[in-house]
Amino acid sequence: MGYPALIVNYEKLKHNTQFLMEKCRRHGIDVVPVTKVYCGVPEIARASVEAGAKMLADSRIENIIKMKDIPVPKVLLRIPMKSQAEAVVEHVDISLNSEYDTIKAISDKAVEKGKVHKIVLMIDMGDLREGVWRADALAFAGKIVALEGVKLIGVGTNLTCYGGVIPSKDNLGKLVELAEAIESQYGIRLEIISGGNSSSIHLLDKSEMPKRVNQLRLGESIVLGNETAYGERIEGTYDDVFTFAAEIVELKEKPSIPEGEIGMDAFGEKPVFTDKGLRRRAILAAGRQDAKVDGLTPTDERIAILGASSDHLIVDITDCDTEYRIGDIITFKLGYGALLAAATSEYVNKIVE
Ligand SMILES: *Cc1c(COP(=O)(O)O)cnc(C)c1O
Repeated sequence: MGYPALIVNYEKLKHNTQFLMEKCRRHGIDVVPVTKVYCGVPEIARASVEAGAKMLADSRIENIIKMKDIPVPKVLLRIPMKSQAEAVVEHVDISLNSEYDTIKAISDKAVEKGKVHKIVLMIDMGDLREGVWRADALAFAGKIVALEGVKLIGVGTNLTCYGGVIPSKDNLGKLVELAEAIESQYGIRLEIISGGNSSSIHLLDKSEMPKRVNQLRLGESIVLGNETAYGERIEGTYDDVFTFAAEIVELKEKPSIPEGEIGMDAFGEKPVFTDKGLRRRAILAAGRQDAKVDGLTPTDERIAILGASSDHLIVDITDCDTEYRIGDIITFKLGYGALLAAATSEYVNKIVE
């Protein structure tokens, strides 16, 4: 099927991965590209591996299974369900964990299969999403070390996801201190200190990244070129790796105010209108089942989005220089939420170019 489509520019994705890997490498940091926003589509994920990535990470085992033919270790980002213990051992190389019951179940399954599963212990440095609380981390690590079927290979943290807490020299410094306390207490060496996601990048430019942090798990910065602590563009990266494309099915000149008594729109909201007189409008064959409309930005800056229902996206093209015709394709840049929705919708054709 043709449209709507999510179009991926393979070379631009490769460039963004390479650019961020090089930036991180200068600070002794490995990048693990995160594939979840595009549902782990292997034809897309390959670009990051071609760029040199040594691992890939996703929050869902389903996506990790899709990428099984890409020959790099896979990291499971979301704390695994206990019920998935067997699938974790089977399909995942490294999982991020914070619950003893689940780790024990993974260990038992690994022993059964004659394997040792690698674990990164997640420590909550204040953002209040996943992770053991700092005060409990040392004792908790000891319980993992005592299990036969798992190996504790690192610690990690995740920030700016629930609480909006910004990674800093201070909170990541404490993560490193905890890692070193675990190492000396249990006589082990932790090969990974995973210092967060795209919100940790700002510390590199300020040279405030604590020395032993040696891994970042990067999603948004690779796919959209944004650092996410302050919401700034990362210079040197593309913001249009992904574009959303939809086809014009109706072109008419209509008033800007509806006629008749105004009730509710298709989503139960009461719409408001300003009178701009007669406007040239296009209906695109795409809607809320395909994308998050408020996260779309038309590539043609003279187009304004008027609204959308489930399957119709209405845009104002009055001010455009281009003479749009029926059957023409209108393209958009996407924000993170819109990209996630478009990648997830089964109605949106994924095109790698
Ligand atoms: C999604 C996710 C990431 C990547 O986050 P970005 O902000 O997209 O870089 C990293 N770590 C974990 C645990 C995640 O769930």
